[in-house]
Amino acid sequence: MTLKKNWEVIVIGGGPAGSTTARYIAEGDCEVLVIDGRDPIGTPLQCGELVPTNDEMRRLCPDVPDIDDLLQTPSSAISRKTSEMHLVPPSGKPLRYSFEGFMLNRVLHDEALVDLAKSKGVEYLVDSRVDSIDGNSVKLRDGREFSAKVIVGAGGHNDPLRRNFWNESSLKIPVKFVLMDGDFGDAVELHFGSMAPGGYAWMFPKKNGANIGVGIQNKFSRGKNLNDLTKDFVNRYDGNITFTGAGSLPMSGTITTFVKGNYVLVGDSAGMVLPSNGAGITIAMIGGRIAGQVISEHLKSGVPLSEFEIRWKKQMGKVMSNSKKAFIFGSYILRLPDWIINLIFNRFTKPFVWRSITCRNMFFIF
Ligand SMILES: Cc1cc2nc3c(=O)[nH]c(=O)nc-3n(C[C@H](O)[C@H](O)[C@H](O)COP(=O)(O)OP(=O)(O)OC[C@H]3O[C@@H](n4cnc5c(N)ncnc54)[C@H](O)[C@@H]3O)c2cc1C
Repeated sequence: MTLKKNWEVIVIGGGPAGSTTARYIAEGDCEVLVIDGRDPIGTPLQCGELVPTNDEMRRLCPDVPDIDDLLQTPSSAISRKTSEMHLVPPSGKPLRYSFEGFMLNRVLHDEALVDLAKSKGVEYLVDSRVDSIDGNSVKLRDGREFSAKVIVGAGGHNDPLRRNFWNESSLKIPVKFVLMDGDFGDAVELHFGSMAPGGYAWMFPKKNGANIGVGIQNKFSRGKNLNDLTKDFVNRYDGNITFTGAGSLPMSGTITTFVKGNYVLVGDSAGMVLPSNGAGITIAMIGGRIAGQVISEHLKSGVPLSEFEIRWKKQMGKVMSNSKKAFIFGSYILRLPDWIINLIFNRFTKPFVWRSITCRNMFFIF
């Protein structure tokens, strides 16, 4: 079947942000094509695979409506449920918190988002990389060209629309991880200190193994490289490594504007990752729903695209602002020597540490 050339909307990238945006555009009765360089979308894995449950999301993002409509994670994409999070300083003595999370099979999760969008009428073109955007025209590497009234950049941290039409830069944190076979207990662990300068290391237990990784800020790493730090951290655990992956996370929060003319950015390309904990999947989907709804209202009844930014601020402004502040504060703390970090993680600071990780105001002021 040959694809038609002219669309109401083209979405570049079919990850959580792009597939969710497209789903809601189609639900608003507009026609939309998603173009993605991968086939299948979601592979190879680049993720720690932890998301909050829907109930936890309602607590973390209280201004976001209708979470159950947005996040319909099928049980086939959930490796296991977790109920506890440990924040671990270099001493190894954790602060323990209740936290309801899903450990995903991220590849199946992203496939499910594609299937859901397709069921609403979204068209996909995979294995097709976007090379450039010019006016209303999207040019692929293989020479094909498509056009649309609205073009969405949901291509992740290296999105071509963002690269060519926005000059604001984001802090990107390099990340490496492995999947390991074995039994790793029940709690998800975040480790802080010199094992992950300026960032954190994680061990997230899955059904028959774990996702283990490290993310750092290069400027605080004092010559240590991410490969060595990851090897050192992974060696703390026993098991067979079955997969090795890497990626990059935008960690300076959202950029100042998501909309320029008929161009719209969403997800990682717009910085929609919570810097204090690295959560990006559900946040990209929150952004995707707002973007999709506004774009279809724009096409149907002339609502300005800039309404996307207004609704995003209403739903996520406070959470993102708290998360950015916590990240900046944390960046000062996490460059200190390990013995000071050990002192800082104590039972008196425990509630403050948790509030900062979960994007609430650290000092109970609001
Ligand atoms: C190692 C790692 C671990 C992470 N762990 C977690 C975690 O545990 N929990 C969590 O919530 N978040 C985590 N994140 C963040 C999360 O993965 C992202 O925030 C989320 O995937 C953002 O979704 P997105 O749709 O914006 O971008 P992506 O998921 O990156 O999707 C972008 C899509 O665009 C496509 N694309 C890119 N450029 C082009 C192009 N030129 N042409 C065509 N297609 C293109 C790509 O193929 C891809 O499918 C992690 C990230 C990394 C790197």
